Amino acid sequence: MSYHGSIVVQSLLAGARNCAAESLQPAGVHSHLDTLISLIRRTTGALSVLVQFEGDAPQPVAIGLDCIEAKLMRGRKRVGMLRAFGQDFAPEVTTLLQDFARLIVEQNDLWAQAHLDALTGALTRRAFADDLERAVASYRRKGADCSLIMFDLDHFKQVNDTHGHLAGDAVLRAVGRLVKRELRAEDRFGRLGGEEFGVLVSADVETATEIAERLRLAISAAVVDGFEDIRFTASMGVAGCDIETDSVMALMSKADERLYSAKRNGRNKVCTGPVRHRAMPYN
Ligand code: GH3
Ligand code: MG
Ligand code: MG
Repeated sequence: MSYHGSIVVQSLLAGARNCAAESLQPAGVHSHLDTLISLIRRTTGALSVLVQFEGDAPQPVAIGLDCIEAKLMRGRKRVGMLRAFGQDFAPEVTTLLQDFARLIVEQNDLWAQAHLDALTGALTRRAFADDLERAVASYRRKGADCSLIMFDLDHFKQVNDTHGHLAGDAVLRAVGRLVKRELRAEDRFGRLGGEEFGVLVSADVETATEIAERLRLAISAAVVDGFEDIRFTASMGVAGCDIETDSVMALMSKADERLYSAKRNGRNKVCTGPVRHRAMPYN
């Protein structure tokens, strides 16, 4: 799902011949399904397994292999598809895959209950903090790019006061939807509190600033179904891991400072900082 609602999990065994796949998602993006995926591979003999929930980006296509599929159903509603690619599948694999499809939906729903904010579909503050921790650790270990965008809706109290709390909720839901639409599967989007959000990207501060600018524009142009007369904007602060910003605390406080500079400078703005040298990996 991207934990953001849609999921693409692709596992491709090394050494699979005659198999080409396009737009593969990086492994481990949806690690809550990794164990199941690996179980599917081992029990069915599949070389590649694809889990795709509705609303995903275009799915990878494995060429030159047989494909067996099972619908992912929530109750009577189809919510996605499970596909196994391989050669010479045994006849019972179809039934096996249907059982796995049920398990995947169950596991995914449990994971979502524990990790996602129900209103916006963003990660909870705690789940987001865990991802941030891992990303900063990876920067410290390997120098992997890691940037944080923090944003807060402008004058949101006025939206509630003028149009009512339901309208405020609809705006928050719309912001969740559109931010998820703008991000890639491997980016992380979390609700840090009320109308404040974080986006974690594996990119340098310049790229993160471009992403923030795109989000700012998308938010300012958004129209909410049923509340078409409401307009809203967001102020954003961007910070990247660098030689002097190599802890979660430092990264968050820098992004937060810049978010408040954006507020002070008139709102509906992105405030960012200079691109600095990266720290050398510690080992
Ligand atoms: P600023 O531009 O300085 O950020 O002003 P603001 O009005 O957005 O900030 P303030 O902190 O004064 O108000 C935030 C408002 O967000 C108040 C609170 O009721 C509202 N809010 C927080 N969570 C929710 C929610 O889940 N639903 C709704 N409808 N409103 C919420
Ligand atoms: Mg606000
Ligand atoms: Mg706020």
